[in-house]
Amino acid sequence: MGFVEFQNVSFSYNEGYEAQTRALENVSFSVEEGEFVALVGHNGSGKSTVAKLMNALLLPSAGRVIVDGMDTSDKKSLFEIRKRVGVVFQNPDNQMIATIIEDDVAFGPENIGLKSDEIRKRVDWALEAVGMSEHKKGTPFRLSGGQKQRIAIAGVLAVKPRVLVLDESTAMLDPSGREEVMSVVERLNREEKMTVVMITHFMDEALKADRMIVLSDGKVLMNGGRELFERTDEIKRAGLDLPVAGYVADKLRKSGVPLPSPITDENELVEALCRLKFKN
Ligand code: ADP
Ligand code: MG
Repeated sequence: MGFVEFQNVSFSYNEGYEAQTRALENVSFSVEEGEFVALVGHNGSGKSTVAKLMNALLLPSAGRVIVDGMDTSDKKSLFEIRKRVGVVFQNPDNQMIATIIEDDVAFGPENIGLKSDEIRKRVDWALEAVGMSEHKKGTPFRLSGGQKQRIAIAGVLAVKPRVLVLDESTAMLDPSGREEVMSVVERLNREEKMTVVMITHFMDEALKADRMIVLSDGKVLMNGGRELFERTDEIKRAGLDLPVAGYVADKLRKSGVPLPSPITDENELVEALCRLKFKN
């Protein structure tokens, strides 16, 4: 059994009312400990709903969500589940609470009732992990978007979750902010063995993951590794952009250039083209 399991999960907002919206339908997947999974899909495909089901902010209308063997519908497990699954949202400004950075990061550990020396240790560790230690006495309001989002990640990390879920946490950032956050997340996965679920609509970010789950209209359309990038037409139909090199390779293939598949970055594309050139 995976660390997080979705078993035939359906979810509707406003269930039983006229405004009922079916957001997820029969969704099943699992996430193993230590994995780095990207969850992608068009706007409204159900990604945020999945994130909220993962830490019991929402409960399934049908099916089950299991976290570390606990059913999220079981009220007794709520506290333990929330400790295990930490979610970072899109807008860092809505996630800042205190006016001093270290107090902000301490909020989560205080909430779970840790002793003050343990809180201090965790805050220092979390700020170190996101590369923001030197700012700990500063105020969050003057930071760049990327820095604020790293503080938000530190706040979640300080609770020491087993799974870090990022719900489009890079969407509002400029390219350098996105890069900062991505490198922090990759390092946490590689070095701290943190399980990561990265919700994103940037396919270059999805490529950094071990596995990609594609949602479309509340259903799982694809679930697999890099080989999914071969399915260029399906990816485009799901409302997603291919990485630029994949898009160019796809066009070339369609005009008869015999390129291998998948091609996901410019180095692969250049190499494949050079190989063709020297063969002929
Ligand atoms: P995504 O994060 O992929 O953009 P969401 O999970 O936010 O998708 O939304 C999935 C579907 O549920 C969409 O049709 C959306 O309009 C609907 N939805 C999301 N949140 C609510 C809500 N609070 N009330 C009613 N419908 C909602
Ligand atoms: Mg969303």
